[in-house]
Amino acid sequence: MDKLIPKLHKLTQNLWWTWKPEVRTIFRDLDLELYHKAHQNPMSVLKQIQPEQLEQRAADVDIPARVDRALRQLKEYLTPVTTWGLTHAGAMRSRPIAYFCMEFGIHESLPIYSGGLGILAGDHLKAASDLGVPLVGVGLLYHEGYTSQVLNTDLWQQDVVEPFDIADLPLVPAVDHYGQPVQVSVELPGRIAHAAVLEVQVGRIRLILLDTRVKQNDPKDVALAARLYGGDQRMRIEQELLLGVGGARALRALGINASVFHLNEGHSAFALLERARHRIQADEMDPHLALQEVAAATVFTTHTPVEAGHDRFPADLAAEHLRSLAEGLKLPLEEVMGLGRVNPHDHGSAFMPTVLALKLSRRANAVSALHGVVSRKMWNHLYPGLREEAVPIGHVTNGVHLPTWLATEMNHLYESHLGVAYQGSLTRPDTWSKIEGVSSAELWETKQVLKARTLRFIRKSCADTRERLGLPEIDPAPLDPDALTIGFARRFVPYKRPDLLFTDLDRLDRLVNHPDRPVNLVFSGRAHPADNTGKALIQKVARLLEDPRFRHRIVFIENYNIRVGRLLYQGIDAWLNNPQRPLEACGTSGMKVVLNGGLHISIRDGWWAEAYDGQNGFAIGTGETHANQAIQDQRDAEDLFRLLEEEVVPMYYENRNSVGVPRCWVERIKQSIRTLAWRFNADRMVKDYVDHLYLPAAIGSSCQMPPP
Ligand SMILES: *Cc1c(COP(=O)(O)O)cnc(C)c1O
Repeated sequence: MDKLIPKLHKLTQNLWWTWKPEVRTIFRDLDLELYHKAHQNPMSVLKQIQPEQLEQRAADVDIPARVDRALRQLKEYLTPVTTWGLTHAGAMRSRPIAYFCMEFGIHESLPIYSGGLGILAGDHLKAASDLGVPLVGVGLLYHEGYTSQVLNTDLWQQDVVEPFDIADLPLVPAVDHYGQPVQVSVELPGRIAHAAVLEVQVGRIRLILLDTRVKQNDPKDVALAARLYGGDQRMRIEQELLLGVGGARALRALGINASVFHLNEGHSAFALLERARHRIQADEMDPHLALQEVAAATVFTTHTPVEAGHDRFPADLAAEHLRSLAEGLKLPLEEVMGLGRVNPHDHGSAFMPTVLALKLSRRANAVSALHGVVSRKMWNHLYPGLREEAVPIGHVTNGVHLPTWLATEMNHLYESHLGVAYQGSLTRPDTWSKIEGVSSAELWETKQVLKARTLRFIRKSCADTRERLGLPEIDPAPLDPDALTIGFARRFVPYKRPDLLFTDLDRLDRLVNHPDRPVNLVFSGRAHPADNTGKALIQKVARLLEDPRFRHRIVFIENYNIRVGRLLYQGIDAWLNNPQRPLEACGTSGMKVVLNGGLHISIRDGWWAEAYDGQNGFAIGTGETHANQAIQDQRDAEDLFRLLEEEVVPMYYENRNSVGVPRCWVERIKQSIRTLAWRFNADRMVKDYVDHLYLPAAIGSSCQMPPP
């Protein structure tokens, strides 16, 4: 026992466990109830578990042997003989990629993410780790975490701060060459903000996080990184300065001489000014040359075709905050301001970090092929004289980290049919073509196991919500276990149209309550805490579900997050995505569903525009868009209903074999896995970044760089 606790503790210290189900279950098996109460956080479990319980369970469920096995696996993982990264990106080993992002979604117990952007960043780090790509993540530590969604009796979203103990995270001070903890400071108007530099280990990857809880800071600056996306415009620009400028300084203080800065979204764009400032001051470089050099070594990824999704800081606010950087850059303030404006001479217009990032990066990309087209059009005015097709924004389509999102049972199925080592060759089509050899019955049965678990979770979650709200219990319990179950979970914003199916309630009634072919619908999703339009959409959907016609068939699950998402993706039969085309830059939740044997039903937008082949899921509409949004909405609703009524529902219920397996449906699942899994995983995404962006940027920049 004496040795067991330190060993368990050691396992908690690398977030590698977040994508190792066999390690997570060690902690779950110690105390199931505590595990869930502690947000699946192993460190909290260890801290709170009673010694007698630990001793008892250790013997009952063979913990010591499982811990030894896990520690050996971790050690082997951390000291590989060779990796894809060593052979393909070995040149960057001494000079890694610095990957900046405002949020990182790695696990529900580390609440420094809010949604898709963060989860993509988390998946990027994990895949870079698996592949052995030299990369360091840079972000902020939000010490108050994020808020949870709780509906009140008006079914209006309340944003409740979740109590969470930061001491239960495997964060350690990052140290310099002399073993000393590192702090950085950032000049803000009339003051200097400080941050301690902490780090957390994500497999082989270091994630550097800036922590404003230091004693030199006055309370206002401690609060600067209290919460993700909290506060007003002033707080936002100061957070972005902290991330960009502070992050670049932290790397330097740690002796990390990054080859390339990869800015995942524009929030961290100030890092580029700081990088240039340092070259100008430390190496007495010409300011314009320094800016060019920085651009050569920068990769910028843009994530949204929605105008309002890009920060715009009023000119006065930006000028006030850029004064100190401009001095350091030895450039007139107006010139620096101009770097964040489409037209630099348009004095008085807002400062946009996205524009700064585009101007100071030689390589920029969108996150799907269609989003590339849209982004080139959107930013064409930034490149006067260039035709739209020539605008230098390419694309790398997003992908998802398979081990994070895959159900254990699906993993076993893949191991037995694709080969035990299939996770080492996720990006090869021939790995996945072996899915054809799986019997339909086995695939179907596996899916039923996952579905049963997901439905149990959904019922429990709904019952808890109803009890809290004082709503009567639904009898019988909602969601027929044999019914086709379709999920819809995402951020609630108008362009994602969570209410599209509710435009014709009678038709929806006929669809879900069909006597022989019923349909369950599961909704989940949050609105940004400051977004009342999104909250009104949630209220609208949640209220409609109280209608006696829908109560048994349609539910809303509170608090969509990584855990809720994982459970939905794994057990749902089909996933619905019906945004206004072309506003969904990529979308990744559908990819997670596909890996788990679910089918994607989507508008031809984002990744689906390049993924759908006529047989590997379902497409709503043709991909044409009408200039009048109301007409388009009407058309899409009509197409969606027709698709569900005439194709999706019949395929699920018809053509069943003697043991009830729907032949065509399962064929389609196989087609979906075979054609999509190898392309839309995060290994493929990270390899694309390395081959097409990181390596060219590292090589292009190295000839001008001094030796480290
Ligand atoms: C994957 C994921 C997202 C992003 O999915 P979209 O399809 O882009 O909406 C958002 N939230 C959670 C919890 C996720 O797991």
